[in-house]
Amino acid sequence: MATSWTEIGERVFVRRYAFFDQNIVVVLGREEALVLDTRTTPGQAREILDDLRELGSPPVGIVVNSHGHYDHAFGNSVFRPAPIWGHERAAEMIRRTGDRQRAGAAVEVPEIAAELAEVVLDPPDRTFREVATICLDDEREVELRYLGRGHTDNDIILRVDGADILCAGDLLENGATPFFGHGYPMDWPATAEALLALTGERTVVVPGHGDHAGRAFVESQLVGFRAVCDAARRVVAGEASVEDVLPLVPYPADAALEPVERAVAQLRGELGE
Ligand SMILES: [Zn+2]
Repeated sequence: MATSWTEIGERVFVRRYAFFDQNIVVVLGREEALVLDTRTTPGQAREILDDLRELGSPPVGIVVNSHGHYDHAFGNSVFRPAPIWGHERAAEMIRRTGDRQRAGAAVEVPEIAAELAEVVLDPPDRTFREVATICLDDEREVELRYLGRGHTDNDIILRVDGADILCAGDLLENGATPFFGHGYPMDWPATAEALLALTGERTVVVPGHGDHAGRAFVESQLVGFRAVCDAARRVVAGEASVEDVLPLVPYPADAALEPVERAVAQLRGELGE
């Protein structure tokens, strides 16, 4: 696994951190840098700042959260006073569920429980609903766009003027089953199709976790999202049981249940609006 920055576009770098196999992307301007996602703890966020020295990076002037999950947003406070961008529901998610996420993470990863206690919940203060354009150094445009519900109801993608890249956050995960636990499985295929439509033959696609890839990777993920929906429709139509449809989902046997159950719950109107 790469433990250094990889340039994936003009002045755009990704670094893959072993913790959660997570990607952090930085766009370097002349006077300021933009960082996409801030990791799980203040210590991990400070590690990003340390690692940016390798690039001779200017100060971080802009932060973006791809969505409101703790591993993408709990390092936010370390980057202040930089403005933090995100979907309006990402900010809401952190405000509403931040302490619950902190408690859950402490159970999931007990070795960082003490560090998690130090996290200052600091949701995005520059929020939007559909699209936002940020200017790095007042000249290079960075586009943030909401494509629909999927992994959460607040995932956004990031694209940079002059670089053929697309940062997908956790709408895509490489090398692991996508996380459906807070997701909207029935909406995910359409969202991923919209993402695919923005992807060219040479586009570098950066998932939230795992190796960066290309268009074929997005297509392969779509197969999984569609299979989850088809499986859930059969269950809800009474044609099959959940157990019957699990083999139709191209995820490891122990990972297929949650996506299908979540999709069934969505079809039955149990996820709310
Ligand atoms: Zn996530």
